[in-house]
Amino acid sequence: MNCPICNSAATKLFIANDYLGPDSFAVEKCSSCGVGFTSPQPADLNKYYPDDYRQFAKFTRWVMQYLYRRHVHQWIKQLGFAGNALEVGCGNGWMLNALSDQGWKVVGYERNEIQANRVKAETGHPVRFGDLGAIRDEKFDLILLFNVIEHLPDPVLVLRQCASLLTDRGVLIINAPNLDSWQASFSKAYWAHLDVPRHLFHFSEKSFDVALGKAGLRNTHVTTVSWIHDPYGWVVGVLNKLGFGHNRLTVELMKGTFRGFFNLSGVFMVLVSGLLLPFAVVASLVSWCFGKGALIEVWAKKAK
Ligand SMILES: [Zn+2]
Repeated sequence: MNCPICNSAATKLFIANDYLGPDSFAVEKCSSCGVGFTSPQPADLNKYYPDDYRQFAKFTRWVMQYLYRRHVHQWIKQLGFAGNALEVGCGNGWMLNALSDQGWKVVGYERNEIQANRVKAETGHPVRFGDLGAIRDEKFDLILLFNVIEHLPDPVLVLRQCASLLTDRGVLIINAPNLDSWQASFSKAYWAHLDVPRHLFHFSEKSFDVALGKAGLRNTHVTTVSWIHDPYGWVVGVLNKLGFGHNRLTVELMKGTFRGFFNLSGVFMVLVSGLLLPFAVVASLVSWCFGKGALIEVWAKKAK
């Protein structure tokens, strides 16, 4: 199959299993722009999203919310102003809350009305739904696509729609797991952030640049530092390779009960995770120095 972003030839990297179901998928990589993509792309993705997908247990939620809030504070400091922001795929609304607390006027966006109403009820912020391209009455100083673009069947189209919604000083902040990271190269089909088939695309800095260029945007800032994704991803990658069960730690953390930890192999897994953590932190710090962290975050502006 040819690359869905730039139409060049692609080669198969490996076959990966869906850790939440029985199906397997190939991950192919474009020889030109370097984007990875899941093949075949399922016609109906809904059946691959269980009802409790990314519905984390209370403690996990608390930790993640703290990390998200910290991340937003760093952005705001770097941006140096408060304006109006749109979060495309606002999920649980944590980022909308954090931005609003910092004086930003916020709008969320979700794919469908049910999701939009849920976030609206939980956060009190306005949430749009439906066709993103239909929003024409407003421009934004900040648009967030956080952990979203890798799930989209046509990422360039959504980037183009975002570009048309940016003000002249506006910034689009976009992130995705980094296929060029050391962690991805080490873990391959067992990479904690691969998540096929829900992740349809697997980006890197080069492939982001090509996709942004096609959408009339230019890359102004890149980082691969992520305390949310890096140390955890190293631990899970090693656990997967040791045979504890594909992403079992993630599955247990998503459930509310933690019941899976209260047996011999569960206790053993927690102990091994604790032992691995210092090494994972060191691996993360070194990979960040070389721009090879597990998550890539790009800031983009409208190309002049
Ligand atoms: Zn390509």
